[in-house]
Amino acid sequence: MSIADLDPRHQTGEIIGSMTTSVHPRVFDVIAKFIEKNQNDHVLFPSLSAIEEELISETKRMLGLSEDIRGVITSGGTESNILALYAFKKTFSSRTVISLESAHQSISKAAALLELNIVKVKVNDDGYYNPDELQGMLARYPNSVLVLTMGTTEIGRVDPIIPIIDSIRKYHIHVHIDGAMGGFTYPFTNPKEFSKYVELVNEGLASFSTDYHKFPGAPIPSSVLFISRILEDKLKWDSHYMPAGYQKGLLGTRPGYSAAGALATLLLKGRDGLAYSAIRSYNLALETMNTLKSKWNLSIPRPDVPLLCMGLGEKELVYRAWSFLWSYGIRTYFCSKPPGLRIVFMPHIKKKHIDRFIDKLLEFFEQGSREYHER
Ligand code: PLP
Repeated sequence: MSIADLDPRHQTGEIIGSMTTSVHPRVFDVIAKFIEKNQNDHVLFPSLSAIEEELISETKRMLGLSEDIRGVITSGGTESNILALYAFKKTFSSRTVISLESAHQSISKAAALLELNIVKVKVNDDGYYNPDELQGMLARYPNSVLVLTMGTTEIGRVDPIIPIIDSIRKYHIHVHIDGAMGGFTYPFTNPKEFSKYVELVNEGLASFSTDYHKFPGAPIPSSVLFISRILEDKLKWDSHYMPAGYQKGLLGTRPGYSAAGALATLLLKGRDGLAYSAIRSYNLALETMNTLKSKWNLSIPRPDVPLLCMGLGEKELVYRAWSFLWSYGIRTYFCSKPPGLRIVFMPHIKKKHIDRFIDKLLEFFEQGSREYHER
């Protein structure tokens, strides 16, 4: 037995709550060639410069982003979010971030690190903001940064853009679209709606980030931030001892294998493979939602990305269900609005894993009700 055997595995369907997934076996061979190399030193490692360029253009091609948009390789959703808010602050002297309460905690982290004022807008039980309230906020804080999420962490909502597009223009709002989870699913499940976000990015009014290490299944850590050229300049720091004279992003030394692994993943799966996977997983999520609702009448917000928050009502019950499922190797996560269990339909999750999850949940409810009646 090795120490790694302590961990559950993706392939067995045990990992059902996390946004991680299995890596394509051929990607392991590719990354082995780049493990010692620094992505932030293009001069010493010219292969990484070519890989980065190809990764950015391949991603832009897949997602329909304009060739003029710049891409910055980062270590994950958190780094992408911090860099986006930093670039807006530096370029436009924006002092306020308007975010929805459903945004990922890295937005609050970024605001704290960058000493930005953060205003949080409430969302209803289905994860939607009130358009009048948000428009009011945009009017009150012109030149601020608005963060919208493409696939919220807890319920999988894609924050709508249409109701506020006029206010965004009118009040000179800079938008950051956090597509950590949905950036590689929503374009394929909802191409028409996705094109509205792309228009804003291509016009230079919004930045957009998405993680290779989430749905596409690239090795961790791996994400990208798409941003206009003037904003990208703010993310380069002089570094006189380096042959290139500068470094990009928050990290000094950056893993070269990440970009190589991300590119290998995209090329091996291809646009069609990723689209197939996104549609299959999303359909499985909706089917599961319908089954759970019809069996137990649970409260489950209909997601826009392959993720479900299965509301169980009381926190105590949530925790008991979580412990029960974990004891059978079914590793769900939590969600808070509604209080419940989060399951994420990453590419490794198959129907048989969901069937097992539902069987165990049934057992839990039966046992729970027996305990209740025996009291
Ligand atoms: N943004 C969203 C919407 C997320 O769901 C997450 C993580 O789950 C992040 C950002 C942070 O990503 P990372 O953990 O790669 O820093």
